[in-house]
Amino acid sequence: MKKIKDVNDFNFKDKTVLLRVDYNVPINQYGKITDETRINYSLPTINKILFDKGKIVIISHFGRPKGVFNNKYSLKFLIPILSKKLKKYIFFCDKVIGNSTEEKIKNLKNGEIILLENLRFYKEEENGDKQFSYILSKYGDIYVNDAFGASHREHSSITILPKFFNKKCIGLLMKKEILNLSIFFSKKINSPITIILGGAKIESKINFIKNFMKFADYLLIGGGMSYPFIKIDGGNVGNSIIDNIQSKIQLIKEILYENKIKNIIYFPYDVIAIKSNDDNNIKIVPIHSIPNNWKGLDIGPNSIKNFCNIINKSKTILWNGPMGLFEKKIFSIGTISIAKAIIKRRNNAFTVVGGGDSILALKMIKSITKISYLSTGGGAMLEFIKNKTLPGINAISL
Ligand code: AMP
Repeated sequence: MKKIKDVNDFNFKDKTVLLRVDYNVPINQYGKITDETRINYSLPTINKILFDKGKIVIISHFGRPKGVFNNKYSLKFLIPILSKKLKKYIFFCDKVIGNSTEEKIKNLKNGEIILLENLRFYKEEENGDKQFSYILSKYGDIYVNDAFGASHREHSSITILPKFFNKKCIGLLMKKEILNLSIFFSKKINSPITIILGGAKIESKINFIKNFMKFADYLLIGGGMSYPFIKIDGGNVGNSIIDNIQSKIQLIKEILYENKIKNIIYFPYDVIAIKSNDDNNIKIVPIHSIPNNWKGLDIGPNSIKNFCNIINKSKTILWNGPMGLFEKKIFSIGTISIAKAIIKRRNNAFTVVGGGDSILALKMIKSITKISYLSTGGGAMLEFIKNKTLPGINAISL
């Protein structure tokens, strides 16, 4: 990959930096952050700019407000958190666009930080809008992208905005992600390589599997990811989660066919299933024959054993996505077992975990520091490994 500039290549004294971060942090039902990794990882870049005596305008998205203001998705809740971590007053603008915002940014002094409201309150952010990007570009002298978790999106602040800057670079979070994840396509990678995929965003994650089959030794597919394969293979998955796979049927068939030759993919043998949403009506059933009205919500004991045996002999491990509805304790055993098996390999394998839910599972067993590399991206991490770059990275190297 072409050498790409990072914040260490610049001196930010007297400059205003437009810093795109990914503060789309996971929150619980009370609105409290459950994992601050994305915020913590963004601090080195902020501190470097502050050290140089630069001014910072922070921009980010949060949740899916779909282009309209919604108090639930306001970034205001980050002010005390950032303020505490940086030991600094943080200014806030409740409008991304407007005269008062321009005025506040113009009045920033060296070493001061202002956070703008959620970019996704404007539909233009997700539409890749030139005019919106142009207005934002007036807020800074240098554009810095440290939003790894959002850099697979062709959104205004990621791919259009940097076009308006001569001076642009990546931040230190982004640099760290590129360095660590590049191992997956370098000669330094140690085999056996195991990739574990779970979760429920089947439609998007399914696109990575064919590529992963090219270099992985084992692909363990659990959680919601497994049911479409089992169904298309002729199994009965009852009411288990399937997502919208209409457009992916051909791809699933191809993957299954290819796997008959390569034998890389392992699905769960058994699942923990419940009848008609009744948590008291639980049984272990083979994944291929889940009765109608029952749905699989976790991988079963034989599947756990098989997956853990494979993890146990792996030298490189990548994990994204839970093995079941792990938010509920009774369905968390599969996910927690996988997390524990990965941790057990910490002295013998390079372990990478990415995606909010997998990180949360590590937190549940207080093992967040026992992973070789914790990625701040879920989809972005998978896409970076597949394509060796991301739209947001390309936009900086142009
Ligand atoms: P993702 O964002 O794709 O990693 O999906 C994470 C979500 O998938 C979590 O909220 C899990 O509860 C959910 N999930 C994983 N497996 C299942 C399953 N078998 N049934 C229902 N939800 C699941």
